[in-house]
Amino acid sequence: MTAVAETATGGRTPKQFFWNGKRVPYIVPWSGEQPLPGKLVHRRGPGGLALGYADEIPGDRFRDVLWVRMSGGLGMGRPAMPGVQPLRQRRCVNHFLCQVCGRPTERRDGRHLFLMHAAGGVAISEGERTQTPPVHGECAREAVRDCPHLREYAAALVEHAPVWGVAGIEYDPHTLAPRRPEGSDKRQPLTEVAYEDRSRIVWTRAAREVISLHGITPVDLSDLGLVA
Ligand SMILES: [Zn+2]
Repeated sequence: MTAVAETATGGRTPKQFFWNGKRVPYIVPWSGEQPLPGKLVHRRGPGGLALGYADEIPGDRFRDVLWVRMSGGLGMGRPAMPGVQPLRQRRCVNHFLCQVCGRPTERRDGRHLFLMHAAGGVAISEGERTQTPPVHGECAREAVRDCPHLREYAAALVEHAPVWGVAGIEYDPHTLAPRRPEGSDKRQPLTEVAYEDRSRIVWTRAAREVISLHGITPVDLSDLGLVA
């Protein structure tokens, strides 16, 4: 089995990869993409003491929050589905790029389609927080067809999706020991921390950007046109 890359045809279209006959979503990590080590230290910044890397470079921070470091790149090794590559997730939610194909998702009406796993198909609610990037209508139908974890899902058109915070590992400000995740769900090892909560977010190493969804209109994927 080998990964097959198709040449990008558009200026901003990332390469599309296929594995066992199915497209590998843009957001999925590959085995060649692994977290890189970084010695955590107390670091003095403009806002005071914060979590930092001993050999920190400007690219280690986003919105003044420390992020995980990743090696490799898209298409290296084998895809790890379902999974999330932290830096592509961040890119997708900040630039409204499709989690499946990596292209911009803005529709002609200015809204974006969001699709997420939902036990029982519970609808997406106004103001709901998510780490899931938007998606095109066609890509959403493909994901529902190909991804077992999307057997139960909810979809909505969204007017606004401002950034809310990050999801990551919180560290003790004194000992720099990792804190236990807040939630009891073992499938969610990351703690969500709001950008407004400065006293906590400066001691968090982020692995996802978190946004909130507003102006929600629940939709049935089969009702959407072929062009999102
Ligand atoms: Zn797409």
